[in-house]
Amino acid sequence: MFISKRNEGLACVPFETWRDQASAIRLEVLNNLPGYVDKFSFHATRAGAVVHRAHDAQAAREVICQILKDRGARKVVKAKSMITEEIQLNEYLEDNGFHVVETDLGEYIVQIAGEKPSHILAPAIHKNRRQVGELFSEKLSVPYSDDPAVLTKIARSVLREEFLTADAGISGANFAVADSGSLAIFTNEGNGRMVTTLPRLHIAALSIEKIIPTLKDLALFVRLLPRSATGQVLSSYLSIITGSRKQGEPLGTRELHIVLLDNGRSEILRGEYREILKCIRCSACFNVCPVYRSIGGHAYGVTYPGPMGIVLTSLLEGMVGTHPLIDASTLCGACMEVCPVRVPLVKLLTKLREERVDRRMTPLSERAVMTMYGIATGNRRLFSLGQRISKMFWPTLNKIVSKGIINRLPKPASRNFGQRDI
Ligand code: SF4
Repeated sequence: MFISKRNEGLACVPFETWRDQASAIRLEVLNNLPGYVDKFSFHATRAGAVVHRAHDAQAAREVICQILKDRGARKVVKAKSMITEEIQLNEYLEDNGFHVVETDLGEYIVQIAGEKPSHILAPAIHKNRRQVGELFSEKLSVPYSDDPAVLTKIARSVLREEFLTADAGISGANFAVADSGSLAIFTNEGNGRMVTTLPRLHIAALSIEKIIPTLKDLALFVRLLPRSATGQVLSSYLSIITGSRKQGEPLGTRELHIVLLDNGRSEILRGEYREILKCIRCSACFNVCPVYRSIGGHAYGVTYPGPMGIVLTSLLEGMVGTHPLIDASTLCGACMEVCPVRVPLVKLLTKLREERVDRRMTPLSERAVMTMYGIATGNRRLFSLGQRISKMFWPTLNKIVSKGIINRLPKPASRNFGQRDI
């Protein structure tokens, strides 16, 4: 569904030009990130926000928890935010006695189901309406219905009460604008506006690479991000928040805190994989990836699935625990064809595979086979001998080795390349 809508949404716009411009803007930010972080912090502070910098996940969790504690908050409503998933904020706040309520419908569904999001834009995409109906009936004690309109109304009435009684709202941000200190938040449900304006305290958590230079640059991403993500011309809601509520203003939070998280980004920026930080989390690469589409987000077992997620997770968490994820890609290149900011995903995935070999992280059996293959292909006579042997034993191999493996290999030719008359 996302793919066909995206194709429709991009059919009548100069997508290639927009991609070049968006990629250039993101690269400009990455090349001068410390300066842009300072500039954003300066303007956000001048607009009335309090900016905190967190070196890692623990520092971000602690600063958010302390802000809530200092203000005596108990109940927190949240808008969808992958950064808070990355730092496992909900678990931390709940362990510290806070009542945390996700308010994006998909996030709310996975929260009451006790699950994790399976897609960065559509967290409950793995559930059908009957499963959601059963879940609501069990957890919210409402009559069973599988009508999406009825289910949405139920969630809306439950969440409205939560918004009105919350002490604080926590959100992420899609972009942070350096020259104005503004946060830009794209949503389709309006919950983002409730989270960021109804409670008297708003905390926004975002990673440092989300910064873009100017509001003019934002205009490009306003057109590009929704089209790449869901095929929408525009998101239903776009909130641009510049500081806290000023005297005489009727709307807005009274106290705004912005937590800028590094969590390994500065390190990534110094290395060969820095272009992954251009990513604007549109999820287009997930939606076209044949592996993601077959196995779904939960199978990856990490916060960021899909082609982008494999690269980012390997860098954020280190390759030791996550390197098997690198195989969850066919390297077909579909992800790169759709990426609106030209993240060279295949290049990055291939580099990760090379690094895994260099660091001897592949299984011993694979290394042994590849070493033998390397020796054989480096010596013409040995290679010919191997060809003859494999042809001779092919019928036997066919009987003893798993059909799944053998069927994927080409049958040895009766006359090999070297024996042909050209
Ligand atoms: S890598 Fe590109 S396509 Fe994938 S989520 Fe990021 S911006 Fe979107």
